[in-house]
Amino acid sequence: MRAMRFLLLIAMVVSLSHHVLGHASTARLENIADTRISDKDAAVLVQRFEQWASAELRKMEPVGELYLQPDSGGKETDSYSWGRLVLVSDGDKDRLVNRLPPHIEELLSPDPQFDARRYVLHFVRHDSVNGIPVSIYETHPRGGYDGFEGQVALDQQGFVWQYVGSRHAVDSFLTRWSGQWRRRRFVYSGWRARLHGGSIYTTDVFIQQVAAPNNPPEFSRRGRMRLWNYGKTRAEQARAELQVVEGIERPRRWALGPSADENERHWMRDVENYVLEVLTRDGYLAPEGTFETRSCAQVISNLLAVTRPSEAFDPPVRCRVLLSSRLDLRLLGHTILISVGSLDTAGDEATVATILAHGLAEIVTKPTPITPKVAFAKRPALELLAALETKADNEEAVNKEALVLLSKSLYSSKLEQAGLFLDGLNDVTPRLSSLVPPTFVDHVGDTAGILRQSEWMRRRPVYDPLRQGHFSALPLGSRMALNRETNQVDLLRAPLVPMLGKSFGVVPPYPYSSDGDLGGAAAPRAAAN
Ligand SMILES: [Zn+2]
Repeated sequence: MRAMRFLLLIAMVVSLSHHVLGHASTARLENIADTRISDKDAAVLVQRFEQWASAELRKMEPVGELYLQPDSGGKETDSYSWGRLVLVSDGDKDRLVNRLPPHIEELLSPDPQFDARRYVLHFVRHDSVNGIPVSIYETHPRGGYDGFEGQVALDQQGFVWQYVGSRHAVDSFLTRWSGQWRRRRFVYSGWRARLHGGSIYTTDVFIQQVAAPNNPPEFSRRGRMRLWNYGKTRAEQARAELQVVEGIERPRRWALGPSADENERHWMRDVENYVLEVLTRDGYLAPEGTFETRSCAQVISNLLAVTRPSEAFDPPVRCRVLLSSRLDLRLLGHTILISVGSLDTAGDEATVATILAHGLAEIVTKPTPITPKVAFAKRPALELLAALETKADNEEAVNKEALVLLSKSLYSSKLEQAGLFLDGLNDVTPRLSSLVPPTFVDHVGDTAGILRQSEWMRRRPVYDPLRQGHFSALPLGSRMALNRETNQVDLLRAPLVPMLGKSFGVVPPYPYSSDGDLGGAAAPRAAAN
């Protein structure tokens, strides 16, 4: 009751301020200070918001990934998971296979069971999160309650846009998930965005392990969680799944009388399209957009401009983007699937071209029949994806072919950075085997040195991850923008900034307040400075 009266009061003050003070910005600032929400009322607002936010989240079925990596040194390795965030129980096998680990939702809120009576809040200061004026409150659990110790950013309407702090439930989850047995301490920081017609969802969480009696500071870890696929509700997603399975058009072209060879190619394309449709619908693959049809296709056409090995590339090679931060390159007939992580960390376009050249060379040297495993089989998306993984085999021949493509392309004079990237892959894969899996390095990493010993890469600087001014790869999140509603990707316009010792590393994400900010090629980065 009190809270209702209080909200009404805020609404009045805000509307008044519009009438009376609408033009004077200095007066408005004072006004914000005047309407400071009392500590007690702030706790009630946070409770209401967190309850509302978790109810809204239950209506959705976002796809997400969690990644945690050790800082250099130590013997620990990294950990990675991706899949759907499933918060409503049902017996569907596909959902079980494709889901993120249980309790991962603990990261998406300061406290999913936030109860105002169990917290003491203290106003700290006025601030802004991505242009939205907010008040920062410190939160302390009351008595023995095992709650969130940290800060929340609350705006005048009672929305919590950001939180940073620690909670034992999160420590336990991350410790267990990353295979440790003594509980580690973590600070986690979540950013929220307004998506799907007005609701507010957590889209990015940054994680930093902090020193505690159990874990000395030299074994520090950093990680992040990203969520997307907020375009459809759970119900809409389920309907779309039925449609693909029942409504898929089976090829019937053989009745029309083309050659057996054409029939074979049509069949392959149909299978490709089917798998692409399932992976896109389930949120693991970006839909075809300007990045795929322009930027990526341009690199492929640059590689094939001179050497156009005729028949191997009919139908033409396409490119699609896997939404995973893990470095990945898979082939599905004549479609190359490259991951956001590969594009993000590649230091320049010639490096992207080097990765794609491997895919093209695979198509030329190993004509890949589409396996019966994926042909119109109704299988969970992540199983379909796993079926596309191939063991490295005869990679010398593949790399020689890739080198032919690269050396005759416009990239030939710019391959030194690509050589350093290959050095970096081979160096970090033992420590970061989740992010840079051996299956990727065995294919793309040029382990036999055929590319790196060639005249085009030989003059690269000596690989040294800690030398100032040298880098092998960019940190995660450096190059690609992801729209959290449509799952579309595009290039960020910001300059690419290598960071010392942060090749393939995790850096804090940038806050986005609404989907509008993520649209197109111009995701904002200026806020960071
Ligand atoms: Zn290969």
